[in-house]
Amino acid sequence: MDSASKRFLVTQLMWIGVSFAISIAISLVVPFPYSLPIMIGVFMLMSYFIRKRQMQKMGAGGGAFGSMFGSKGIDYYCMACGTKHNQAACPRCGSRMKKAGF
Ligand SMILES: [Zn+2]
Repeated sequence: MDSASKRFLVTQLMWIGVSFAISIAISLVVPFPYSLPIMIGVFMLMSYFIRKRQMQKMGAGGGAFGSMFGSKGIDYYCMACGTKHNQAACPRCGSRMKKAGF
């Protein structure tokens, strides 16, 4: 097993431990039949945050949206002089008019 998957497993176990501790704390405060849905909610919330953290670690910050409109997506061309730029105003002539191109 390589260090990356080992680290992944440790993080996973840590989160399971954290949610387990929270579940125990809830069961101490809330009587049993009512504590069950809260515990399930905590587990679901935890797994949601774990997934979110892992997605961020993988660099998929923007998800599908990020890959669609990422750096290699749409280019903008100045409508006045045709300079390719991604700024609000054209760096060459200062025109704010631009069109999208691929
Ligand atoms: Zn221009």
